[in-house]
Amino acid sequence: MAIYLDANSTTPLLPEVVESMRPFWTGQFGNASSVHRHGQQAHAALDRARTAVAALIHAAPAEIVFTSGGTESDNHALTGVLLDRIAAGLRVPPGASASRPHLITSAIEHHAVLHVAESLRDLGCDLTVLPATPSGRIEPESLAAALTPQTRLVSVMLANNETGVLQPVTELAALAHAAGALFHTDAVQATGKLPMDAHALGVDLLTLSAHKMHGPKGVGALFVRRGLTLRSLHFGGPHERERRAGTENVPGIAGFGRAAELASTWLDDPQSGPAPLAALRDRLEQHLLAALPSSGVNGAGEPRLPNTTNLFFDAVDAEALLIALDLQGLSISAGSACQSGATEPSHVLRAMGLPEARARSSIRLSLSRLTTPEEIDTAARLIVAAVTRLRSRPSAAAALPPPPTRAFATAR
Ligand code: PLP
Repeated sequence: MAIYLDANSTTPLLPEVVESMRPFWTGQFGNASSVHRHGQQAHAALDRARTAVAALIHAAPAEIVFTSGGTESDNHALTGVLLDRIAAGLRVPPGASASRPHLITSAIEHHAVLHVAESLRDLGCDLTVLPATPSGRIEPESLAAALTPQTRLVSVMLANNETGVLQPVTELAALAHAAGALFHTDAVQATGKLPMDAHALGVDLLTLSAHKMHGPKGVGALFVRRGLTLRSLHFGGPHERERRAGTENVPGIAGFGRAAELASTWLDDPQSGPAPLAALRDRLEQHLLAALPSSGVNGAGEPRLPNTTNLFFDAVDAEALLIALDLQGLSISAGSACQSGATEPSHVLRAMGLPEARARSSIRLSLSRLTTPEEIDTAARLIVAAVTRLRSRPSAAAALPPPPTRAFATAR
């Protein structure tokens, strides 16, 4: 038995996606920049994929720049906006005062945003990192207080990868624009899980990644709002309208396009779209909370992605739980995948104010379109058994509160 509840780390390719990529590894291997028929075949594949990815977020095909994934798109968005401003400060004549550009992001971002933001700070920009509420939300009020006339860019994610909590991006983007700043959102986790309209969100830049939505790894896109010129990070040929040099990964992009088409169909299908997926996630949550005292949902009460739940089980070491479940054939995550093996507890849960012990007792379960009710019921059974077993160890038992007077005490 193998049950995979770690879809926020990555998702399996759908068979249709594999088929859509196959020709571009074999007969249709052309370089999309070549004028001959092989090149034209590849170019047509890029056009089709660009149209499908754009349609998924209600953007125009010309607003899509293909990249090597979410990390590159995040790096491109932040660096592309800030680097010119930092350089402008360096060109100020000696004696004249130069204002440093200001970047705002949030404490719950993925490291693909946080680390590039820190790197830009080291290069000469001012950085503000907005705090999260205990339920994992970035409040518009805290952005309003942080904006200055020097703020050039605000970057806040659409949905958090660990808790699934949705951020008030429309409000945040409007505040940024009112202060004269651009707005970027990392939509890697939200894409293909919820209907999305980049223009209605009001963002200037938006990050996508194929492998979180049943597409291939190593492919992503950056939505660049029409009219916005962004400094390129890759220099070479005129690929991607001179916005990202380098021969395009045609099979990967074709797979991304097919994954986007399938996601659009899924989102519109009431039988199998986000609502039934959320119902399955809720069924799992309810089962676990009812069966296990001293447990709860991190981010409860906020609007969340339909597929994600982040749960704590006090007095249980999440890493030990993950290993115990892996031995039983159930794959889950304790924190984000990029942190696996790190000794630090999740920076997202810590930013929400969880005590270290509770952050270390938290796991993330993330379902995909392929998850079945049977898998959910088996997973719930396995988790209840494993948590109960780990809690029966003397050290864990001592850390738990005395038995509740009610049937069970569930912290939510
Ligand atoms: N942003 C978020 C919110 C993510 O969850 C991830 C991957 O975990 C990334 C960015 C990085 O995307 P990629 O793996 O395509 O580089």
